[in-house]
Amino acid sequence: MEKVIIIRFGEIFLKGKNKKFFENLLEKNIKNALSIYDCIIEKSHNRFYVAGYNADIEDSIIETLKKVFGIHSVSPAVKMPTDISKVANIICDDLPYAKTFRVTVKRADKTINLTSTEIAGQIGGDILQLKPQMSVDLHNPELNINVDIRENKTSYIYYENIKCYEGMPVGSSGKGLLLLSGGIDSPVAGFRMAKRGMQINAIHFHSYPFTSIQAKEKVVELGGIISNYCGHFPLFVVPFTKIQQAIHQYCREDFMITVMRMIMVEISERIAIKQNCGALITGESLGQVASQTLESITVTNSRVKSLPVLRPLIDMDKTEIIKISKEIETFETSILPYEDCCTIFLPKNPIIKPKLSVAEAEYNKIVGLQELIDDAINNVEIIKIKNK
Ligand code: ATP
Ligand code: MG
Repeated sequence: MEKVIIIRFGEIFLKGKNKKFFENLLEKNIKNALSIYDCIIEKSHNRFYVAGYNADIEDSIIETLKKVFGIHSVSPAVKMPTDISKVANIICDDLPYAKTFRVTVKRADKTINLTSTEIAGQIGGDILQLKPQMSVDLHNPELNINVDIRENKTSYIYYENIKCYEGMPVGSSGKGLLLLSGGIDSPVAGFRMAKRGMQINAIHFHSYPFTSIQAKEKVVELGGIISNYCGHFPLFVVPFTKIQQAIHQYCREDFMITVMRMIMVEISERIAIKQNCGALITGESLGQVASQTLESITVTNSRVKSLPVLRPLIDMDKTEIIKISKEIETFETSILPYEDCCTIFLPKNPIIKPKLSVAEAEYNKIVGLQELIDDAINNVEIIKIKNK
């Protein structure tokens, strides 16, 4: 008898012809995520199995697997050569405590001449003999004993089916450049696009010394947390101070944020194209702040020439975003009180419904802007973000 973890696939089942590609990618991602553990990964009949690990790291392995997109569910299990008469003996020694139980059998091995219900009845009877204090409850049991009898003369017994995120394996839906601030929203946006299979690169605009070194470290920290879901990635840190000073010098105060965001996406698109990213990703949510009204978004979009801007949080309330941010464990870092470059030089009354023509006129007022942009791009710092 051996302890294993069963890994079931999610949506990749649906992808007829591409199934092999998705499975191979998921296997690679699982192997990468588990590379920190001493264990092996086996594949058989539409499932993966983790085996060869020490029982005391089982919970950590499961926690890691829960962050791999494309996995539908996992179950810690006991593996044994198929022998119906031995199941009760094998599990009764350390059966989780419960007063009532049911046995549920799935029989993929059609060479056995008993139905699933008959097999369940037989195993249930054996358990009652060994554990007379327990009783059967088919409808609301405290313990569900699942017995999967597979094709290859191997059976798996498990009690729990732990739901994972599903989604698509990271890398199956191209690559996107995430505009990562130190706030609550953008890490959640990255998480959600990674869940749809997008590989993530990130860009951060930093206005040192107006924003502190800690503000940058906070972004690196957030990157580390989301890399638990999307794998390691480069973070491009753009020196933004001179551009912000120029905006301050040349632009109308109420348009400063609008122009700043136009320049941010313009620089982001240039870096995205260099990195072969097929999209920009932001944490914008409609109407959340002045720069996220439809009119502001229209102006920002006007500076992005060839890539789509994905805004996975566009229809979400802040409370919904916070809920996810707590679940993925970015929240506590996001609320650390370091300033973002958006919060410095902040006008008292930013324009809520900017006209594109006025925004363009303000943008065009900045003397030497293209040189400043080139200069910022040439001085980008690249930080390698690794799993926490
Ligand atoms: P967040 O919580 O993600 O900081 P926010 O509510 O503070 O969002 P804004 O400051 O308007 O909203 O920013 C909107 C989006 O613009 C962010 O979600 C992020 O994608 C991007 N962004 C803002 N500031 C930066 C920055 N300094 N570097 C990179 N991207 C940024
Ligand atoms: Mg922000």
